[in-house]
Amino acid sequence: MALLNPDYAKLKAGYLFPEIGRRVSKFASENPQAKIIRLGIGDVTEPLPPAVVAAMHTAVDELAVRSSFRGYGPEQGYDFLRQAIVDNDFKARGCDIAIDEVFVSDGSKCDTGNILEIFGAGNTVAIIDPVYPVYVDTNVMAGRTGAADESGRYEGLVYIPVTAENNFVPALPDRPVDLIYLCYPNNPTGMVATREELTKWVNYARANDAIILFDAAYEAFITDPAIPHSIYEIPGARDCAIEFRSFSKTAGFTGVRCAFTVVPKTVMAKTPSGEKQPLHPLWNRRHTTKFNGVSYPVQRGAEAVYSPEGKQQVKALVNFYLTNAKLLCEALRSLGVNVFGGVNAPYVWMQTPGGEASWSFFDKLLSKAHLVGTPGSGFGAAGEGYFRLSAFNSRENVEEAIARLKTMLG
Ligand SMILES: *Cc1c(COP(=O)(O)O)cnc(C)c1O
Repeated sequence: MALLNPDYAKLKAGYLFPEIGRRVSKFASENPQAKIIRLGIGDVTEPLPPAVVAAMHTAVDELAVRSSFRGYGPEQGYDFLRQAIVDNDFKARGCDIAIDEVFVSDGSKCDTGNILEIFGAGNTVAIIDPVYPVYVDTNVMAGRTGAADESGRYEGLVYIPVTAENNFVPALPDRPVDLIYLCYPNNPTGMVATREELTKWVNYARANDAIILFDAAYEAFITDPAIPHSIYEIPGARDCAIEFRSFSKTAGFTGVRCAFTVVPKTVMAKTPSGEKQPLHPLWNRRHTTKFNGVSYPVQRGAEAVYSPEGKQQVKALVNFYLTNAKLLCEALRSLGVNVFGGVNAPYVWMQTPGGEASWSFFDKLLSKAHLVGTPGSGFGAAGEGYFRLSAFNSRENVEEAIARLKTMLG
């Protein structure tokens, strides 16, 4: 009989969102009249920017005609999109990134998981706690951890806790690590890293031959002009960092699917015999072997994000969500709740009133206010006692949610 991958057995049974789904379905079936508002899963709610829709329509029409029909495109993405990315996301910010260092894909979730294939099994991995669960679970699947303890922490991973006590500024690892996941603006805390902070990490990585896996899925939400949008704004990052970007949260592409990963040719890792070699050819090989490119209409849609109208529309979309976040923060603060994030990110990270356990607060919020959020402990042991509210919603729902929070906590 075939053998299954035993590493999958180490995964904690209830991945966060299915568990939330189970509890919400149960409550909804027992309380069919309740109008539940979901401020939980990080999915966008507003329609695509019109410039994106127009570009996708045009692209579909091109495919309908023999003379402009296209089949397989380059696996790494069409040059029209890679060039727009290089010019707008990197050159415009003074970052030196070449077009062939950009790999267009169908999502950052897949990329942050798939990247592990080009790294050896023996690498030690550092993650910030709380964290986007994908980083942890993909390392478990890849066999880079032992079993989990009761708090959900896996043996072999190096956890760096961030809480209100350290102002959500992660300390450098206290033992040698090879891979470091950083996500800024952060999911779930909504916090950002200053230029000094990021410089600290880049200097650490270069001094210790570590590689930073930098997830910038929320860079479009940065409002503070002093906060870097890309790790490559930090001198030396080209030698030690891989960056993940996505159109999902920026331009409402969660259902459309388009993202990209930047692998500079100057990022090196070593062979078993200790010889330094670039990672770029390995990622190129992996991408071209296992992926056949993002669809042409989607890449045209992504290109339109960088057009003058697209930029304006994306900015309006981002500002809409950020206003939701601001309203949520203001309301919670007026109720005496400690809140973090929500300024340069679509997430509000709150301390549960009275230090209640995250899941217990989840159940209370659901049963009393018919509101769904995300328990902080689901993102890691250090998230216990915290709760994430997402600003991805209609204004109407946010206002109604605020009214219910005031009734419940006021
Ligand atoms: C939403 C999100 C992404 C984007 O994932 P896609 O697969 O591109 O939709 C990446 N990283 C984090 C932390 C996210 O929250």
